[in-house]
Amino acid sequence: RSWAESKLTPELLKAVERAGYKTPSPIQMAAIPLGLQQRDVIGVAETGSGKTAAFVLPMLTYITRLPPMSEENEAEGPYAVVMAPTRELAQQIEDETVKFAHYMGIKVVSIVGGQSIEEQGFKIRQGCEVVIATPGRLIDCLERRYAVLNQCNYVVLDEADRMIDMGFEPQVMGVLDAMPSSNLKPENEDEELDEKKIYRTTYMFSATMPPAVERLARKYLRNPVVVTI
Ligand code: AMP
Repeated sequence: RSWAESKLTPELLKAVERAGYKTPSPIQMAAIPLGLQQRDVIGVAETGSGKTAAFVLPMLTYITRLPPMSEENEAEGPYAVVMAPTRELAQQIEDETVKFAHYMGIKVVSIVGGQSIEEQGFKIRQGCEVVIATPGRLIDCLERRYAVLNQCNYVVLDEADRMIDMGFEPQVMGVLDAMPSSNLKPENEDEELDEKKIYRTTYMFSATMPPAVERLARKYLRNPVVVTI
């Protein structure tokens, strides 16, 4: 199995090579092509499996396919949001995202507790394509209108079971409800998708699938492919 088969853009293939990732891990082999096709994915995978790059690489591909951000409109973006249960995990995801995004001129802002919310709001309003956040702080930013998700159609819930265990279910749902619901894919799998339309793509990673996680998946994911590693 090789990166050449993954259908990533030449630009991202180069970034992967620079990162020193010689071959894709099993979760990457399985999940990346699905993300590139805007399919929703439930990944049952642990840290260490390479799950971060498995959602970051299709997310960055999605962003490069969008029309470019206009210079004058400060309030544009974010186009993709990643939620994680802890600051530490958000930091790891940011590092992994920047590793690739850096070469593509894609701006990434992290929104976590324990740092100045005004400063985070300022960074978002300067324009950014990707937000990586803990759910509580992101809700605070939405309530203050520091961030608006009306252009965000790509969302990742990392360690969904831990976010639920920590009591973040209402915040996670609040964030998902702030994204345009008109872009959700139809519930009926047989209904044809409009090739020109952008649909919401949702990735959910979880080491376990307790009922609350299943509930979240049923409400927000559309015909997800379950990838178990
Ligand atoms: P994760 O499971 O996403 O936390 O990744 C675990 C570690 O593996 C991170 O340090 C990544 O930078 C690294 N990694 C991810 N994918 C690959 C790959 N295909 N080849 C080598 N290292 C990788």
